[in-house]
Amino acid sequence: MKTLRTIREIRRELAGGARVGLVPTMGAFHEGHLALFRAAREDCDTVVVSLFVNPTQFGTNDDLSRYPRDEAHDAKLAEAAGVDVLFAPSVEEMYPDGYATWVDVEETGAEGTARPGHFRGVATVCLKLFNIARPQVAYFGQKDAQQAAVLRRMIRELNIELDLRVVPTVRDVDGLALSSRNAYLSEEERHEALALPRALEAGRAAHVEGSDPVAAARAALNGLEPEYVELLDLDGVTLLAAAARVGSTRLIDNVILEVPRQASAWLGRADQGELT
Ligand code: AMP
Repeated sequence: MKTLRTIREIRRELAGGARVGLVPTMGAFHEGHLALFRAAREDCDTVVVSLFVNPTQFGTNDDLSRYPRDEAHDAKLAEAAGVDVLFAPSVEEMYPDGYATWVDVEETGAEGTARPGHFRGVATVCLKLFNIARPQVAYFGQKDAQQAAVLRRMIRELNIELDLRVVPTVRDVDGLALSSRNAYLSEEERHEALALPRALEAGRAAHVEGSDPVAAARAALNGLEPEYVELLDLDGVTLLAAAARVGSTRLIDNVILEVPRQASAWLGRADQGELT
């Protein structure tokens, strides 16, 4: 595996006709990231992983300065998962002095409302990464389902030739969705955080029985104060999504409630997902 830091180097490396799969990340790799790398490895000739803690998607009160970083460890995990190129640019490489161009997908609700400016930063950096690596396929996790939907919209509305695949959420054995931010949790907080996936499961069970999933999820939060518990319609797929702070750590999660037949491609690999 090669680690490259400049746009010029990665362009040179990827010149040629290979089918490129790109996995954008912010590092601190866990099994959730590795599932995306493996999906790309299965489909593509060249697997590119970007490792960039993108400052423009963090709000002023967010955790940019304490975000976990361990590039050497990440490089080992990526190499073992069959990644060909790790693209780890500096902030200056991505946003040179005087940088002034932004992509604003006007997403409201859930994360769009809770984190103003977040999706603008995400869309901007992802469009830059798409233009830099020119992948045929890009891989994103269901854990950040709204992010995947925002990027699908950008791809569609800006006429980008790119296939976006969503990979199902990877969870710990106890149900907590893996996240780089879980590293912030104390043992006690880690235990409290379990209320989030359990509440979403309660919501899903209520939905199956024909009752209100949002009310059921709220009732099962076990004292966790949610930022939101919302139904999302993402390209026809209905999800129940929630965000909550556990101590100072902000966690998000979602479960799929319904995937109409015509929207089943939303997940890319619905047969392996949480749909069964
Ligand atoms: P991040 O490094 O947190 O920005 O995440 C990079 C990519 O990994 C995003 O597309 C996330 O949705 C995805 N991802 C993060 N956690 C998980 C998980 N537990 N399962 C599946 N994908 C994930």
